[in-house]
Amino acid sequence: MNESSVFRVVLLGPPASGKGSQAKVLATELGLFHLSTGSAIRDHMARGTELGERCRESMSQARLVPDDVAMEVVDDEIGAHGGGGFVLDGFPRTLHQSELLDAWMTERGQELDAVIVLDVPQGDLEARVARRVVCASCSQPFRIGGKVNSLNDACPDCGGELTRRNDDDVNVFRGRFQEYLERTVPVIEHYEAIGKLRRVDGSRLPDEVSQSILALLKSESEEETK
Ligand code: AMP
Repeated sequence: MNESSVFRVVLLGPPASGKGSQAKVLATELGLFHLSTGSAIRDHMARGTELGERCRESMSQARLVPDDVAMEVVDDEIGAHGGGGFVLDGFPRTLHQSELLDAWMTERGQELDAVIVLDVPQGDLEARVARRVVCASCSQPFRIGGKVNSLNDACPDCGGELTRRNDDDVNVFRGRFQEYLERTVPVIEHYEAIGKLRRVDGSRLPDEVSQSILALLKSESEEETK
């Protein structure tokens, strides 16, 4: 690790692979700042900021926002949280974004500790999308048939109203999955080539996936302190 107990981690995976939930666990367990670029962008749009306005068109078509805009979101958010550890959820999503991130970290004299990819088969992802709901207040995702029974339930975490994300539709999912194959798989290959990539089977129960990721980071950190 770069400094004791400071982890700088990237979490990659196809849409609905569980990145958001796993990033939350890592943030809690390891005291990291969790940055979901998707949530940060939605927040900018809700607040009507200039950055949010630049994202609106791509977001409304479930397309990626331009690379430099996504990097600006990361720079802004992490900059506002000082120099501690972080887990990036949903960034970088294109090869150019990974180049921007690598250069940005080098400029700060830092490096990523690990890039973790959650592997989940496409069929499992589609089944998840069909059952996913999200809290309109705290953004926590839930699965119908898991902690909630229907869209009419209140959020188990904060009591907020449950809703479906407008990109949680199987056809929209397929478009995003295709985009993942075309644009994000090269990011995975890049980090694999430089020895930073760690693969985790994301098709298991969320707790099992979390345990694997935590064990993996722990062993990485022990390796580095040897
Ligand atoms: P997510 O919540 O991660 O599924 O992201 C929702 C939407 O936010 C995506 O469909 C994109 O429009 C945008 N977005 C999030 N992260 C990025 C990124 N790294 N690059 C470009 N667009 C992004």
